[in-house]
Amino acid sequence: MAASRQTDVLVIGAGVLGVTVAYWLASIYDCTVTLADRSAYAGANATARNTGVIHRPFYLDPVKKRVFARSALISRGLWKAFAEEEGLPWSPTGTYNVAVEEREIRTLETYQAWGVKNGMDTTEMELLDGRDVRSREPEVTCRAALYSRTDASVDFAAFTRRILRRLLSKGVKFLGGRELVGVRREGGGALAEFASADGRDFVRCGFLVNAAGGGALAVAQRMGFARNFGALHFRGEYWVVEGQLASKVRSNVYRPPKFPQYPFLDPHFVVRADGSRQIGPNAVVVPGPYVYSGAGLTKLPRALERPTAPKVRLLADRGFVSLILREWRSSLSKGAMCGRVKEFIPTLDPSMLKRHAVFGIRSSVIGAQGFVSEALLFKGEGSAHVINYNSPGATGAPAYSARVVDELRSEGFLARLRPRKETVGFLGWSFDDVVAGF
Ligand SMILES: Cc1cc2nc3c(=O)[nH]c(=O)nc-3n(C[C@H](O)[C@H](O)[C@H](O)COP(=O)(O)OP(=O)(O)OC[C@H]3O[C@@H](n4cnc5c(N)ncnc54)[C@H](O)[C@@H]3O)c2cc1C
Repeated sequence: MAASRQTDVLVIGAGVLGVTVAYWLASIYDCTVTLADRSAYAGANATARNTGVIHRPFYLDPVKKRVFARSALISRGLWKAFAEEEGLPWSPTGTYNVAVEEREIRTLETYQAWGVKNGMDTTEMELLDGRDVRSREPEVTCRAALYSRTDASVDFAAFTRRILRRLLSKGVKFLGGRELVGVRREGGGALAEFASADGRDFVRCGFLVNAAGGGALAVAQRMGFARNFGALHFRGEYWVVEGQLASKVRSNVYRPPKFPQYPFLDPHFVVRADGSRQIGPNAVVVPGPYVYSGAGLTKLPRALERPTAPKVRLLADRGFVSLILREWRSSLSKGAMCGRVKEFIPTLDPSMLKRHAVFGIRSSVIGAQGFVSEALLFKGEGSAHVINYNSPGATGAPAYSARVVDELRSEGFLARLRPRKETVGFLGWSFDDVVAGF
């Protein structure tokens, strides 16, 4: 097959993960890098459709979510420096994690201990009683809260597009509006087939990195990886909060999840980087990674694709099924959604929720043991695949992507590329320092 393009490394997916992977590759190797995305521009999916919080890792189990926690810890400083250099928003909102019920106070204490275990400084967190919280945030009612003062609100899509702009100026190529529809191993690398508005084209590469977010499992499976895993897609819906109450609350307010065994948080109140206030997200099951509206019934056959066993096992779990129904209820009824946040901001009223904000979709990977807690990296000759790269993945992307490149490098998968002498790239982020942080 004649390829219309040739590149040393082809990265599928120009979300925050794909662009940071491309950044490290272009920084530490003298090689050609091409990024391709089914959307016309970078960062159009999960990267633009999230809560926009730079999370500190106090709420992440230091064992089960070690890599996510470490990635978030290391990346904050990289993002902050980048935001300052590029003049992008960095809003030091801070986050209150509130206990509404007595039993939740224990969870806050656990979070504080996890924060320290995950490398946070003790001065970053403060355990407060309900009165302390009320004196700082009069609209918030709770028994206690863990305040994380170093959480911030940002625009991850702006970060991603600005990195891409810098990459383009260094010779990295971007193929927008190209969906990978076929791929096969070839000559130690891969031959990728893309569909676009102009028809089909092919790119031959020495190595392919799959950072395709909600599409990553399908790409991996096309190349023979992760065959025993399935994915469930959860749409996170947000409402904009309007009126006086909105501006009275100055920090993010979260609550520990009611069902911590499942991989999403309960709806929170968020102060966005642009100053707007939102509540959300819920977690509504939809049949595909891009079903941003409606029930997506036409995508149902795809949702039932093999392997079905992990999904069937979950559907036999009554707790999970009742959670799904609750989440659907909060999608269909504004009052139900409002009620979930009203438990800690009692003055919130459905009349303040006049319009939806942008929805995002989380694609959670499930295996024989149920939901997978960390991102998974599959590697083989000519390609590597990151699946289940979920929250707080936008926060952790600069460090996590360096870790991926380091793993590929140290295991010899990138041996055909010529290393540069310098490992501090044009964004000023040091590869060696970042990987040493793990
Ligand atoms: C509702 C919600 C709230 C969140 N809140 C936060 C938060 O506050 N803080 C935080 O740190 N994280 C948050 N996250 C997680 C974070 O957004 C993700 O971890 C992160 O954006 C993932 O980046 P990505 O590059 O892997 O995925 P994406 O941004 O989705 O990028 C993957 C890209 O691959 C492309 N692609 C897919 N298939 C193909 C194909 N076949 N061919 C070509 N291109 C393809 C897609 O078009 C997409 O642009 C949230 C996520 C959700 C869903």
